[in-house]
Amino acid sequence: MNNAPYTPHDFQPTDHSLLIRQGGLLPLSADLHCHSHFSDGVLPPEMLAARAAERGVDLWALTDHDEVSGIATAQQAAKQHGMAFLAGAEISVTWLGRTVHIVGLGLDATDPTLLAGLQQTRSGRVNRAKGMADALAKLGMQGAYEGALKFVSNPELISRTHFARYLVEAGHCASMQQVFDQYLHDDGPAYVDLQWAKLEEAVSWIMSAGGVAVIAHPGRYKYSSLEFDTLFKSFKAAGGLGIEVNTGSHRPREYAQYAQVARDYGFLASIGSDFHGPDDGVFDLGSIAPLAADLKPVWQELGHKIS
Ligand code: AMP
Ligand code: MN
Ligand code: MN
Ligand code: MN
Repeated sequence: MNNAPYTPHDFQPTDHSLLIRQGGLLPLSADLHCHSHFSDGVLPPEMLAARAAERGVDLWALTDHDEVSGIATAQQAAKQHGMAFLAGAEISVTWLGRTVHIVGLGLDATDPTLLAGLQQTRSGRVNRAKGMADALAKLGMQGAYEGALKFVSNPELISRTHFARYLVEAGHCASMQQVFDQYLHDDGPAYVDLQWAKLEEAVSWIMSAGGVAVIAHPGRYKYSSLEFDTLFKSFKAAGGLGIEVNTGSHRPREYAQYAQVARDYGFLASIGSDFHGPDDGVFDLGSIAPLAADLKPVWQELGHKIS
């Protein structure tokens, strides 16, 4: 038996990134969906990178809502931690009158078409936020716009999450979940709709930037079976290739359901925590169960995009 004391070397992260890039190793742990304070997460990209590496993530992507300003820092930090990295974004789309999120992975975050599309997608958020604050005021909760702004790092990216953090802090609700359940869910009394990007536009911006488009957390959308079938087929026809199967935004029992969708429609499968902050949710970075072994993981198409 070896009783030698552990040395710091034993705790150095393994550099899997080169092997993953060469297609020689499936990531032991991939997390391809999370948010920094450049959108509605609470941590800066370098802290997310450190946390992901600490928690054993081998392949990581930052996917801020409608924004890529955190990518350069994230990429640099991932490299310092010996973690393979994919540049990402989560684009807000309106399809059949409801919001769908499309994740782009393996993006060139300097692509002008992508940047212009994201800018356009962000542009309605401030007015919408003022509308949601007015609705909350009518429901007896004053000052929500200014309150939400206290939680915002990127003024173009004020989101419902920032309102939720404020309403909890102000004591109007006990949890962020309660804010969404009572006031801010998609049909809620303080919700204000916005026309986001079109599905085909979002996919084309991602493809223009050399990335792969992935339907985020399909289990969250309130469509009928026929509407889902049309969504998946329209997405595919537009050039979309992937779907999130194992995600922090699904209940674990939904993983098998969307694994079957991936098989039925021939989608690449993706996995991610959808982590927003240490106090916000159940699933931390790197904590999602691995994809079913027969699925084709999205990174198999993205080896040349991994840094
Ligand atoms: P927005 O882009 O302003 O419409 O805000 C959408 C964000 O709100 C999502 O990215 C989630 O972070 C958060 N969100 C939406 N629905 C819920 C929910 N039911 N519970 C917790 N967070 C939610
Ligand atoms: Mn979010
Ligand atoms: Mn989302
Ligand atoms: Mn997300």
